Amino acid sequence: MQTLKLKEIVAFTKAELLQGNLDLKVKEIVIDSRDVKTGFLFIAIIGQNKDGHQYLKEAVKNGASAVIVDRNSPAIQAAYPNLSVLKVEDTTKALQAIAFNYRHKFDDLKVIGITGSAGKTTTKDMIFSVLSEKYYCLKTEGNYNNQIGLPLTLLRLDGREDFAILEMGMSGLAEIDLLAKIAVPEIGIITNIAAAHLEQLGSLENIAQAKKELIDNLTAADTAILNYDNQYTKKIGTNSKAQTIYFGFEKGADARIENYFFNSKTETLKFEFTYQAKNYKFIFNKAGKHNLYNILPALIIAFKYKLKPEEIQKGLLKTKFSSLRMEFIQLKNKARIINDCYNANPLSVKAALDVLEQIKAKRKIAILASMLELGEKSLKKHQQIGLYAAAKKIDLLITIGPKAQAIATKARTKMKSEQVINLANNKECIDFLLSEIKAEDLILIKGSRANKLEEIVDELKSKE
Ligand code: ATP
Ligand code: MG
Repeated sequence: MQTLKLKEIVAFTKAELLQGNLDLKVKEIVIDSRDVKTGFLFIAIIGQNKDGHQYLKEAVKNGASAVIVDRNSPAIQAAYPNLSVLKVEDTTKALQAIAFNYRHKFDDLKVIGITGSAGKTTTKDMIFSVLSEKYYCLKTEGNYNNQIGLPLTLLRLDGREDFAILEMGMSGLAEIDLLAKIAVPEIGIITNIAAAHLEQLGSLENIAQAKKELIDNLTAADTAILNYDNQYTKKIGTNSKAQTIYFGFEKGADARIENYFFNSKTETLKFEFTYQAKNYKFIFNKAGKHNLYNILPALIIAFKYKLKPEEIQKGLLKTKFSSLRMEFIQLKNKARIINDCYNANPLSVKAALDVLEQIKAKRKIAILASMLELGEKSLKKHQQIGLYAAAKKIDLLITIGPKAQAIATKARTKMKSEQVINLANNKECIDFLLSEIKAEDLILIKGSRANKLEEIVDELKSKE
């Protein structure tokens, strides 16, 4: 962050100065007292589990020269007379106001906002990697994609950046609108719209509405990059003010991949890309048609900002993926794991099963745990996955836990009964696999985050 004067922060947040020095220079702004160093400003955020106000003392001891609070704090003020103390009504809103105003210090900065039901992080990582071949970029770290993470990401800007590439997540209406209003993107991307967070939003139409908020915040000078092959995102483009560029595999997409081929030995994906009446060939080092969807926005943006195909190719191959997504792991006995256990919803489970289908192996095993937050559609969605898996020529389907049992039950109607097993928990699955795994097995592991399926992967890697 570039230093900010306390008086600027007061102006941004309309805070009341309880005590302190308006000319104070703030070096960094943090919300975790453990991150505080000398000269930092600490904002006491009220989180789901904790209230940052409990950590004021620790923040000051660690060197905070200023704090933002939502209440009078006579004890702290008396104990630390040199501390600058700002009072606001809502500390989270204060953080957002600072981020919004700070972002506007950089007139030339281009902000790219990415939302969607699956593929946000991967798309963000790819855009970052490709654009970094020519430009200086900042990207969301990890999953800092919400009303607190996004402002904190903007506060990492140091003025050198050409681009800020921001992931925008949501679990309800009006959340993306808020993020877009803080970040003011000039490019908005929706990767896809599918059943994720269905529990909170009730219907796919509501999910589409919530994601559309990103595009609604764009102006005629901006660009919307939308998935052509998804019925919801396709519709969103038809009444957008922004210039819309569609990506996909289907005829009619502006930026289109027609052919692709995955070589599982070399783990390379070759594909042909057509855009603006030109044809390009690229190579990529991760499996999955779904990852090609994630590449397409990066290609569109790269061409928009005049990268050469060679630069794009280089950037693509340098992409640093966040972990637990389509990781191919070879065990000592030559069995292979596709570790895709970061998270799961119906769309991403189908995408992973497609990858399993496309790779040759002596025996294919799919290990599936539950998909969470699907609300009343949950049972039906699990049953649909059962049928989808059964159509994929899997030799063995293992489901874990009671919710995923519906996957097994439905799959059994199409597979031999000995090919489908439902186990109670990760431990049972580990024990089963340790006695069962054979050389040249290919094992897909996928489930929602709360299932912590990486326990299985870690165990197989260590025991074997
Ligand atoms: P989150 O909402 O948890 O932040 P995300 O949208 O950032 O997720 P990623 O982290 O990129 O998504 O990918 C999560 C999982 O979704 C991957 O492991 C993969 O299984 C699946 N996935 C990624 N991209 C796509 C896609 N374009 N279509 C379908 N599934 C995808
Ligand atoms: Mg993410």
